[in-house]
Amino acid sequence: MARLCVVGMGYVGLVTALCFAKLGNDVIGMDKDTEKLKLLSEGSPTFYEPGLDELLRDGLDKSMLSFTNDLNWSIDQSDIIFICVGTPPGENGQPDLSQVEEVARSIAGNLNSYKLIVEKSTVPAGTAERVKQTIKLSGGEDVLFDVASNPEFLREGSAIADFLCPDRIVLGVDTRRARIMLKELYRDFDCPVLITDVATAELIKHASNAFLATKISFANLVADICEKVGANINLVVDGLGFDRRIGREFLNAGTGYGGSCFPKDVKAFAAMAGALGINNTLLKEVDRINEDRICSIVKKIEDALWICKNKRIALLGLAFKCNTDDIRESPGIKLVRELVRKGSIVACYDPKAMDNAKSELKSLGDGLSFAETPYIAVNEADALVLMTEWPEFVQLDYSRVKKLMRTPVIIDGRNMLQAIEIEKLGFWYSGIGCHRENRKS
Ligand code: NAD
Repeated sequence: MARLCVVGMGYVGLVTALCFAKLGNDVIGMDKDTEKLKLLSEGSPTFYEPGLDELLRDGLDKSMLSFTNDLNWSIDQSDIIFICVGTPPGENGQPDLSQVEEVARSIAGNLNSYKLIVEKSTVPAGTAERVKQTIKLSGGEDVLFDVASNPEFLREGSAIADFLCPDRIVLGVDTRRARIMLKELYRDFDCPVLITDVATAELIKHASNAFLATKISFANLVADICEKVGANINLVVDGLGFDRRIGREFLNAGTGYGGSCFPKDVKAFAAMAGALGINNTLLKEVDRINEDRICSIVKKIEDALWICKNKRIALLGLAFKCNTDDIRESPGIKLVRELVRKGSIVACYDPKAMDNAKSELKSLGDGLSFAETPYIAVNEADALVLMTEWPEFVQLDYSRVKKLMRTPVIIDGRNMLQAIEIEKLGFWYSGIGCHRENRKS
């Protein structure tokens, strides 16, 4: 059993803390947000993620888990400190590493015996060296410590399963002691464990996210070509995906990638390459294709309705993907802003992300309303736009939807619906990467 402190109780930190507690470690969850800590200590998760409630209650009941804002005490009680704070986008695509720096300085002031400090936040290669230097300069010079990198690959929506059954574990270490401690911590995991130097581990995370984002942008590029030549993207990506060298995952065309990772990590990786004098055109193009996706959805709405102004649009899906309430960089949120800017009257709905969306979009005023059900959202709508692949959107009674709408137009940003079936009901249906006229013939 290890004594762990996890700094930052966001999506990654909380899942990390709960999973390590479930595996029998003694875990302190540390954050500076006292509201968050109060809720967590009462057993209430601060965001939606399947399975989180049970794991939280279990950890608290078994006294494997506690929460505090007292970093000094947390460090004193722990052997390994995980840094899981945010690394949001900063200027010119560079990540803003001020949260990591703040934690490094606080740790320096509280070191009393050997500690292993582990970066789990996604950071550019070279950050661990910075953390080390900051700790030394801020007073941690006399105490032994190591800084390691253990990037996290979990996906929101399946975070617990991803954490507990990862494809691989990457341990970036530069001392024997750090390697032994981390290998011991992960001893029960049944997956490849890749042990590298610290900068390599940091780079693996950025390169992984940039590669996955590239697959998505590639699929979207091919989808645009499909629309021009009358091909069907769903079949094209199946055809690609059966090739084991390519694989089918992350090849879905649609509204583009969102969330707190891919958009910022692609930009950060491009900025890092650019700063090193390396041509970053590939990464910039991946980002540009993604940014264009919202325009292409608006164009589809205009293809059907001609003018967006004063049209009533029902928008289903505000979370950046299903099974989460996270709206950071969500295509649905971006589309709402663009449609309201164009003068549309938008009614939106999401099964889990309504509260986050309400607070994010409160400045948009009268052009926007939040419906309690999808059926209320589509009432009198001129078009329905599907932006997140929530299963409940596939299961809607589309005959009822059609009766409720003013004009029966569906723009399916995730290619979730069976086009032929939907068209049989009398809808104008437009998916991604499949030319309407061609599909009919
Ligand atoms: P988040 O914004 O949800 O959480 C960050 C937390 O850190 C917040 O609770 C905040 O209050 C806390 N915090 C900030 N400064 C602090 C300080 N000085 N002391 C204590 N707590 C502090 O972020 P997240 O989505 O969990 O992401 C964290 C990191 O993990 C990022 O680098 C991200 O890129 C990476 N990552 C995220 C995901 C994901 O799916 N969200 C997956 C893999 C990696």
